[in-house]
Amino acid sequence: MTSANAPYAARDLAHVWHPCTQMKDHEQLPPIPIRCGRGAWLEDYSGRRYLDAISSWWVNLFGHANARINAAVRAQLEELEQVMLAGFTHEPVIALSEALSAIAPAGLTRCFYADNGSSAVEVAVKMSFHYWRNVGRSAKRRFLTLSNSYHGETLGALAVGNVDLYKKIYRPLLMDVITVPSPDCYARPPGESWAQHSRRKFAHMEAALAEHAHEACAVIVEPLVQCAGGMRMYDPVYLTLLREACDRHQVHLIADEIAVGFGRTGTLFACEQAGIRPDFMCLSKGLTGGYLPLSTVMTTDGVYAAFYDEYVRLNAFLHSHSFTGNPLACAAARASLAIFREDRVLEGNRALAARMGERARALEDHPHVAEVRQRGMIVAIELTANKASREPYPWAERRGLRIHRHALSRGVLLRPIDDVVYFMPPYVITPEEIDLMVEVAREGIERATCD
Ligand code: PMP
Repeated sequence: MTSANAPYAARDLAHVWHPCTQMKDHEQLPPIPIRCGRGAWLEDYSGRRYLDAISSWWVNLFGHANARINAAVRAQLEELEQVMLAGFTHEPVIALSEALSAIAPAGLTRCFYADNGSSAVEVAVKMSFHYWRNVGRSAKRRFLTLSNSYHGETLGALAVGNVDLYKKIYRPLLMDVITVPSPDCYARPPGESWAQHSRRKFAHMEAALAEHAHEACAVIVEPLVQCAGGMRMYDPVYLTLLREACDRHQVHLIADEIAVGFGRTGTLFACEQAGIRPDFMCLSKGLTGGYLPLSTVMTTDGVYAAFYDEYVRLNAFLHSHSFTGNPLACAAARASLAIFREDRVLEGNRALAARMGERARALEDHPHVAEVRQRGMIVAIELTANKASREPYPWAERRGLRIHRHALSRGVLLRPIDDVVYFMPPYVITPEEIDLMVEVAREGIERATCD
């Protein structure tokens, strides 16, 4: 660690307990203190720059210190920084709700706010359960989820997720859910298309719904990409089939678009690719352009109506967080949505996505690359110990970590999930930066798989 960074790292390690980290790892690689960010780049105190190839945990859309979002937050700061959203409202949250209702799948007209992704999942889960109680179906109290799914870290969100690394230890604390095999296309046999595989896998969901519909509130899914589960992808046909089956079995569909929303998969929302409208859509991360913590659960007038009653009947949804619908965060979100509109971002991203895919696919022939897959602005490279059998490397070898370290030494922030190297960059990345990002990943893969 360079001398300018070292004092910050030392002070940090005296008091800060970092997320998703074995703190002992910092004996080898101290946390990097970031002084500033500009566009797709982060800069530390020694002046070293890092290309943010993963959008700072998938949140940043239009670069760090984006002039338009900065201006919107600054203007809002002069007016109102925060007010409780119970009994009060403010123009930023009103305008944001109008804007979201206009761009979300038709019929999602009601926005309930929280301040992070996990809390949005908690809201959707509680709201679905509570809806069924309010309409007299109190036997409905369970949730269906896909294997390898991820929905956050709070206890309800952890319960409806399925990544053992985060979930296993807390299992005694978690509600029991019904877990259905994922349509993940990495597992498809040779010769089977994504659509065929996802369609075939749907049989498990159909059977689970038939068995559990009487006691099930909702199915929760990450549409198209199971991100924290290693950027595993499936075909939109699965969502189309799921929507139809949920309707038929009278079970809600919760779309967790926290990671895939706001253009990551090529469309504004991933659900659009299946032509469906979920009953609940959870949004966070890119909602504010990655600026401030904010989340929302969008739902229908029908769900809303089931809670709309005389107070004394105690049917209201009394969930709350102090910072629900924070005005600064709403201002950032509105500015981010304005950029989507004014700059025709989704069109522009097509060329970036094509470049990422083309460069990354050059790694397909590598003896330790099992698959290169892509959905829009998300590209993943899955490593394997054995190309023929697709056997993974023993997890404790932490080969992805070697790639992370190599990339940092080359000025690129990559953070593989186990042995899956992925790119999810801000939309302001340039073609040249894409080339650098993929080249550094290639070098890292070379080094991490040479023994
Ligand atoms: N759902 C999905 C699909 C996510 O990817 C994440 C975060 N990685 C969450 C929920 C949780 O969001 P947060 O970290 O803001 O609690």
